[in-house]
Amino acid sequence: MKKHLIIALAGLAALAVPAGLQAQAPGTAERLYVIECGQGQVPDLSRWSPGVNVGKTSQYVTNCYLIKHAQGYLLWELGLGDELFGRPEGRGAFTRWRLARTLASQLDEIGIKPSDVKYVAASHSHGDHIGNVGLFPQALLLIQKAEYEWPTTLGVARYKPEHPVKKLEGDLDVFGDGSVTLLSTPGHTPGHQSILIKLPKTGAVLISGDAAHFQENWNFRRVPSFNVDKDRSLASMERIAAILAHTKAQFWIHHDKPQSDAQKKSPAYYD
Ligand SMILES: [Zn+2]
Repeated sequence: MKKHLIIALAGLAALAVPAGLQAQAPGTAERLYVIECGQGQVPDLSRWSPGVNVGKTSQYVTNCYLIKHAQGYLLWELGLGDELFGRPEGRGAFTRWRLARTLASQLDEIGIKPSDVKYVAASHSHGDHIGNVGLFPQALLLIQKAEYEWPTTLGVARYKPEHPVKKLEGDLDVFGDGSVTLLSTPGHTPGHQSILIKLPKTGAVLISGDAAHFQENWNFRRVPSFNVDKDRSLASMERIAAILAHTKAQFWIHHDKPQSDAQKKSPAYYD
């Protein structure tokens, strides 16, 4: 009798989870793709650390990150903008940005159309982070209210008023299961945010945005001269440090080229 019950229950369990369609582990996203969204030459690194590294050249990257979750795709960071592709002269003075591959072509390589993306979010509104926002007119933009309302020097809106938007005032648990959390980390810009992603095998990953630009600046808590608020920048770095200690997350620093060079790139992924 008992044996039959166990067999019956085992049969039900097998029916509940068809082969190949196992649900993702609770509280985690399925995959994280690192997509190349730009390569930068830095003529003078001291812009990011007043009085330090004066005249020292360096290299930056700006990556995009596609997160696959059972509820849909979230694209974190939107790079330089695919229109920069095929322009060898590049763009920008403080960082001269170039684009080796388009975001659209790299999404296509993994079978994703821009219209498949449900949410887009960038750490902030600088041009090396939101360039491709126009590729995703249907995706819900997750942005801090303070960032959305931050005026440009010309007084024009940073985002098209018709773009669907959710204006945040603090952290957001995007999928409601703790797998992907936007973290309010203001200072670089008024509504800067970072992201914490939990994956089944890789564990937790916290991606900085421009709360820190590269490893050395993080280690010494250096604040770039052009951040809008130095004190809030420092407080956000301390907040991130506390979350890293608490979650044991890996810390991925957005523009750090040596770190990026060591990461697997799309179509490979972290799971
Ligand atoms: Zn940046």
